[in-house]
Amino acid sequence: MFDLAIDIGGTKTLIAVFKENESQPFATEKISTLSDAGFESFVERIVKVSTRLTGGSPIRRWGVCTAGAVNTTRGLLLWSPNLGWKNVDLYGVLSQEFGPAGFIENDCNAAAYGEWYVRPGTDLLGYVTVSTGIGMGIVSEGRILHGSHCAAGEIGHTIVRPGGPQCTCGRRGCLQAIAGGRGLERVTQEKLGISLATEEIVNLSLIGDLRFKEIVSDAADTLGRFVANICDIIDPEILVIGGSLGRNDHYFRLVFESAMQAYYPLPGRDLKIELSSVTPSSNILGTLILARQYGGVLGGSESN
Ligand SMILES: [Zn+2]
Repeated sequence: MFDLAIDIGGTKTLIAVFKENESQPFATEKISTLSDAGFESFVERIVKVSTRLTGGSPIRRWGVCTAGAVNTTRGLLLWSPNLGWKNVDLYGVLSQEFGPAGFIENDCNAAAYGEWYVRPGTDLLGYVTVSTGIGMGIVSEGRILHGSHCAAGEIGHTIVRPGGPQCTCGRRGCLQAIAGGRGLERVTQEKLGISLATEEIVNLSLIGDLRFKEIVSDAADTLGRFVANICDIIDPEILVIGGSLGRNDHYFRLVFESAMQAYYPLPGRDLKIELSSVTPSSNILGTLILARQYGGVLGGSESN
């Protein structure tokens, strides 16, 4: 028998199968999410890939994490702007395919749980992911903080610069419109008239091109100050930064330096900001562990 963990992203979906009691995958496969093709077609494709990866063996536990607001207790994806899916009965549909022992969670929450799992005994952990957008998960004493409307940690659309760059949500000056990957690309396009991928923009700033240095420094400094504010608000034992852009060494160092300058230096407080190093990813590890602990226990989940 195998355990199954699936991370549904805006563009790519990672499917990983694990032997019982192992936390490194037996096999993985990444597919295009193609959310525009609809949820039914997506389910067909992930079932096909999962069956191939397990060789048709039964699934013992399964977990799915996804971008967007997720009600874990009811197993619903309430709304995901990145996927364009609304009120999807994720648990209901997937339990028909994989059996009842499943668990659904928001991707940042699952990732925070994965980071907490590799740092056992951590009292309060915050996890900030920086990739196309920006999100956050919080684990307090081993429990995920979901919020009253399943939206705790939705920091990407916090307005940090009124009248600032246009965001995908229709407003201006959101954190991710300045410091997320898509934001960096858009700002570069608007200011310099050049269309480049996030990584290229960060690399050009690293080699000293002043035009890119200015844009990247502004982004990282804004994010660093926001991270300092998070630390001042929740006072975590550890704050972990991950995501494809967050894990970029140069970008992380700039964010780290800005946060260290900006946080409130409470006497005796030792601010710990770490780079995520979980493999294959904290999203997948957290989803796997949650599935093993709570799979099929909807409504009575300890993590709610
Ligand atoms: Zn926004």
